[in-house]
Amino acid sequence: MTSAADRRATLIILDGACADVFADLVAACELTSISRHLLASGGITPATTVFPSTTGVAYLPFLTGCYPGTCDIPGIRWLDVARYGGRWWRDRAHVRSYCGLQAGLINHDLPHQMPTLFDLEPDSVALCSPFKRGLAPDRDRVRLGRTVWGGIAHYTAGYGVLERAVGRELCRVAAERHRFVFAVFPGVDGVTHFWDPQHPDVLSMYREFDDIIGDYAAAGGFDGDNLTLLVSDHGLARVDRHTDISIELEAIGLPVLRHPVIWRREPKAAVMVSGNGSVQVYLRPGVTRSERYTITQIERGGVDGVPTFLPRYLASLPGVAMVVGTDGPGLCLISRSGRARLLADGDGHIRYAPETADVLRLGGGGVHTEREWLERTLDTPFPDAPAQLFQVFRSRRAGDLVVVAEAGSDLRLDWEIPEHHSGHGSLIADHMRCLVACNMPIAGPVRTVDLFPLILEYLDIPVPQEIDGVAPRLGAVRRT
Ligand SMILES: [Zn+2]
Repeated sequence: MTSAADRRATLIILDGACADVFADLVAACELTSISRHLLASGGITPATTVFPSTTGVAYLPFLTGCYPGTCDIPGIRWLDVARYGGRWWRDRAHVRSYCGLQAGLINHDLPHQMPTLFDLEPDSVALCSPFKRGLAPDRDRVRLGRTVWGGIAHYTAGYGVLERAVGRELCRVAAERHRFVFAVFPGVDGVTHFWDPQHPDVLSMYREFDDIIGDYAAAGGFDGDNLTLLVSDHGLARVDRHTDISIELEAIGLPVLRHPVIWRREPKAAVMVSGNGSVQVYLRPGVTRSERYTITQIERGGVDGVPTFLPRYLASLPGVAMVVGTDGPGLCLISRSGRARLLADGDGHIRYAPETADVLRLGGGGVHTEREWLERTLDTPFPDAPAQLFQVFRSRRAGDLVVVAEAGSDLRLDWEIPEHHSGHGSLIADHMRCLVACNMPIAGPVRTVDLFPLILEYLDIPVPQEIDGVAPRLGAVRRT
């Protein structure tokens, strides 16, 4: 192996790629270039993404090593209750949607002192990336194509033009030998929303991507010591039911502030959707406060104009797996069959305690470290849920209540344009399990936050101390 100064790293996001669909195509010998140039010397590692499992937000772990909660970006939409004073136009900066005009603000909403991979490795290039903090302007490639073709494809599913543009640029940068390359291929995610993860049009996107990897290899992309990671930011699953949380709240007399038109007279709740498999609910938006309302406060009638049965009502709606809120030192999880608690024990352990129901469907309670919980929950209905629920409430911009969709459902009907036939954003396995393939073997399971320190160590760049990720060993692979 050459010296660290000669090493390069490449992180390719195949947005929305499902690990099981990918593995099936590999097994059927349909991804021959990927098999030859990546998997032959490395492999696929079992992996989970972050909650909410949604595009943009779920890119942050790769580039910062931190969870969305640590990044203070708890979803693709959020409301800052400490600063939103109810003047919907003058205070609009304190209500966020990264879908639309505010998309670029994701670069500024991150804590200023948090370094990105682009900051830490100045010789970085990004292709078709929505996140660009720390990148020199000439290093931000396929920027216009992303805006123009990505915008059109969102309504037409015609992602081929954009995919090929990113592919051509990837081949070009192969010759430029940058130390770090970050490339986003949005087609699998975009096309799957129109169909389902197994649809022929979706499978074609994987195959076309495999051709791009073949071209990239021919252009010298894999030459030298180039740690190459092929990952997804989340999986996807078919949606047969849309339960619109805003409509359900209006039905019990609560005026709701929501996107895209955030004006609402005297709202009692704000509903911020991510994915569309999860929703954050903020009570009494417009009345500024520094603390979030706890489940106990809500259920004891301590929130003016909000009924005490609200958490149970939301948990009882069809398509809802659970409602989560803070309570004392921990979290209260409510499903239609009962409730459970998650407590941080203070020494790095998380305690899961079913009270009247095993909401996380783990077969019982337990006390484990965050890392142990990943191993123990990887193959359960809600992979990594104990750590993921805690991290999202770390953000002061997270809602009072987080509503999690169950398999087969999402939480938006009005304004879901175009209608999503598949979705993500929830805590369910199909959304949380994601693709991590590499041309070197990685010991798993891993979280997507772990790849940031892995890349830095490989490039011999000091890893920032205050991150959530832990670099996995480059070594034995536990195959799925
Ligand atoms: Zn995505």
